[in-house]
Amino acid sequence: MILILKPNIGTDSREYRRIEEHLKNFQNIETRVHRVQGAEQVLTEIYLIGSTAALSLEEMRSFPGVEHVVRVSEEYRVLGRHKDDNRSNRFTYNGVQFSQGNLNIFAGLCAVDSPESVETMMKALQENEQVCTRMGAYKPRTSPYSFQGHGKNCLPFVFELAGKYGIKVIAMEITHESHINEIREALEKTGNPTGVMLQIGTRNTQNFELLKSVGRQQEFPVLLKRGFGITLDESLHAAEYLASEGNQKVVFGLRGMKTNIGDPHRNMVDFAHIPVVKRLTRMPVCIDPSHSVGGRHRSSDQILDIMHVTAQGVIAGANMILVDFHPDPGVALVDGPQALRLNELPQFLEDVRMVRETYERRVALFSDVNMKSSEA
Ligand code: PEP
Ligand code: MN
Repeated sequence: MILILKPNIGTDSREYRRIEEHLKNFQNIETRVHRVQGAEQVLTEIYLIGSTAALSLEEMRSFPGVEHVVRVSEEYRVLGRHKDDNRSNRFTYNGVQFSQGNLNIFAGLCAVDSPESVETMMKALQENEQVCTRMGAYKPRTSPYSFQGHGKNCLPFVFELAGKYGIKVIAMEITHESHINEIREALEKTGNPTGVMLQIGTRNTQNFELLKSVGRQQEFPVLLKRGFGITLDESLHAAEYLASEGNQKVVFGLRGMKTNIGDPHRNMVDFAHIPVVKRLTRMPVCIDPSHSVGGRHRSSDQILDIMHVTAQGVIAGANMILVDFHPDPGVALVDGPQALRLNELPQFLEDVRMVRETYERRVALFSDVNMKSSEA
């Protein structure tokens, strides 16, 4: 059960103490308090875990400090959608809003290689009015002999260049909890010119200790990629590890599934799961067309498969796009073959804009249909 307290009623209030007193009458009920930063105010949510069947909804609702009570019926307790639960999971980070209702584009380098490619990339983003990007510093590679990313050494120049070109959020994968501090320190040293969304890659979706460390900090939002060889349910539970530790600023990323059935694509594109994740949980959903398709295949209509699957994700309501670009893919140290080129950026953005507009018209169309059928 979740008790959502009235705005600005916190754990130091009389109202909270009354609830606490009442709960002492019930053994086997544990409480966890989450403070959720909404658009305008901080909300306190009390999660009651254990034998909550003994509690009456009516009674809990009648406490003066309680705004709303949700009986948790699904497994994803914090991030899931429950019956009569219309809370959103909207959050703003460094001026950029994330929710199930909008769309952010993170075009950028799969891996940081040189300051020159970072600068050329960021300049192109600014020229195209983009404020988010992706930049990998810590790369999980199949072979220990492959380039592993420049790690913390590249962070100062990446952050400084981000500040120079007005980039507000960089999606950056981490593979170890020590990377959180490295990022925090580099941001502080460079004067916090930008923000970072910590990315947990598909190989680490079930690295529970990493998830707990990332979940314990609330400074950075998190992009959790779906595990490429596990069920959707298992990946959504992984997201709960982040949220149950206290960080609800989580975006869920679809990036394709590992199977030869998807050949010739690198992974089997799974963007049909966007509406499923948005129905089961309150998380914004990201798509990664680059790691799904994995190459610059082009169809008889001359449109790249990467652009086709991006459109398929956007038409289904995706909220974030993570996509590889490179100023000179031939020299990229990671994933050059799947990178889009900078002269393709305006086209890519226009394609996304057209499809998003159509998605919004679809939402309006079906909201009219629902209204008419409920009136009938
Ligand atoms: C990436 O985005 O750079 C990446 C390695 O993705 P994934 O974890 O989905 O393979
Ligand atoms: Mn990659």
